[in-house]
Amino acid sequence: MKQKHAQFSQFDLSESIQKGIVDAGFSEPSPIQIEAIPLVLKGRDVVAQAQTGTGKTAAFGLPLMSRLLPASSVQILVITPTRELALQVSEELQSLGKHAQAKAVSVYGGASAREQISALKHGANIVAGTPGRLLDLMSSGRMKIEPSAVVLDEADRMLDMGFIEDIEQIFEFLPDARQTLLFSATLPERVQKLAQKILSEPVRIRTQSTETAARIKQKYFVVSENEKEAALVRLLEFDPPDRAIVFSKTKREADELSVRLTARGIPSRPIHGDLEQNKRERVLSSFRA
Ligand code: AMP
Repeated sequence: MKQKHAQFSQFDLSESIQKGIVDAGFSEPSPIQIEAIPLVLKGRDVVAQAQTGTGKTAAFGLPLMSRLLPASSVQILVITPTRELALQVSEELQSLGKHAQAKAVSVYGGASAREQISALKHGANIVAGTPGRLLDLMSSGRMKIEPSAVVLDEADRMLDMGFIEDIEQIFEFLPDARQTLLFSATLPERVQKLAQKILSEPVRIRTQSTETAARIKQKYFVVSENEKEAALVRLLEFDPPDRAIVFSKTKREADELSVRLTARGIPSRPIHGDLEQNKRERVLSSFRA
């Protein structure tokens, strides 16, 4: 069912969260937010089929942070497949929840565990992290948390990346009395099984088309392999975008293409899994800026 003219004010979100929404400049809730926010506010467990770009982070973040207590203990745990997503989620929650005293930290492998633990001990009430590092910190007793809400973000990607067993183990360290939300673009059988195991009487929601995505105009051009780059350059020069992301098949292609684009006067940087974490963060922040 499509609801027109939905407003964030129709939800029973706290005043400080409503302020965060205004600051973020969100004018209307997205379809997944319309469905998820009331259920999450009621304390229900939810399995939501939602893709990136649908506003899923705010769909779970706004209602969960609406109940954030002034205590500095970790109340919300978000488990994500990648470091980038952990960082992105913690930044978005921190920003949306700034009037609600949200303090989000991210934990992930490939960076100092000590610094992450120290950030945790300095008043964090939200943690976003990747399964391997979370399990490591929890099983060694270095991170003792009792979140009242746990979110699995992009569960199908975590399955593809081989994290399901780590996740099952993580739940052994989490309190039984908790609200659990699972977000996934697709719901393969293994993800459904996981949901059965860790969620309690979940409500399943699914938004048909994503309005955020529907606002995106899509075009394609058929060109031969050896014309691809010239076509890309022509496209970027003909209708110069403020910013653009070009996806390539391989890491090497990304490296080479970015060198050649830059040489042609189109400043560009590559980003992929072979770059060190701080380099990737620098690329992302220069892109945002
Ligand atoms: P996500 O699907 O969580 O990755 O969100 C995609 C992007 O949409 C993020 O940059 C959000 O800040 C933004 N966003 C989320 N909800 C809304 C909304 N209701 N109105 C406008 N932008 C939104």
